[in-house]
Amino acid sequence: MSKYEVILFDLDDTLIDNAENVRYAYTKMVESVGEHYTEEGFKKWYDLDKKFWIDFHNKKIFVPKEFQTPQELFVQYVRSLRFQMYFEGKISLEKAFEINELFLASLNEIVVPIEGAYETLKYLHDKYKLVIATNGPTVAVESKLGKIGCLDFIDSIFSADMTKQTVTKPSKEYFEELKNYLNFYDNNKMLIIGDSLRSEVQGGMNSGIDSCWLNRNNEELPEQYKPTMVINNLKQLTKKL
Ligand SMILES: [Mg+2]
Repeated sequence: MSKYEVILFDLDDTLIDNAENVRYAYTKMVESVGEHYTEEGFKKWYDLDKKFWIDFHNKKIFVPKEFQTPQELFVQYVRSLRFQMYFEGKISLEKAFEINELFLASLNEIVVPIEGAYETLKYLHDKYKLVIATNGPTVAVESKLGKIGCLDFIDSIFSADMTKQTVTKPSKEYFEELKNYLNFYDNNKMLIIGDSLRSEVQGGMNSGIDSCWLNRNNEELPEQYKPTMVINNLKQLTKKL
């Protein structure tokens, strides 16, 4: 038994194989405008999407006044903007909203777990309070977890789109709002687990919470990041926790 009481799990590429999920949704998206799947197109989308959320985090994405409130419209607008960018302005905003809906629905259709997710969560849920802490849309979380048979292992779900200040990991404010949501404030008894150095490990560093980096591809750890522990496979958690 470790000192932790609450484990904060990232979802995408930590418990769910997001790349496979996105590949499927991407295929549906291009087919909806009469195009076909290509590796090249997929790579363009994957990179664009990744960069988009970094730009968003750095406040480089402009949102016109009429889309700034309510929060739901804001989120919808921001997400839809990616499709206008991908199709380089060849689709209307209305069409982009439509594609966004299709894309979200498709993301929910096929869900591939990360190896060991079920066994690991099953093992941990008796010992710890397990929380999903994601930047992705709340609506997708329950169905994704349900499809990999893990929903019953999870005690709470928290997403960036539930935050009052529209904050994302790794910001300190995100974790402040998460702690308020959980009504749990003891940093020393929490552990953040995730695949992203920029989101989870940096988030832990920003908020004074221990972090565990899931390094599935055996990448080198850049010096500026200080995870408390590193694993290559989720199942290693059953030995460490
Ligand atoms: Mg992730």
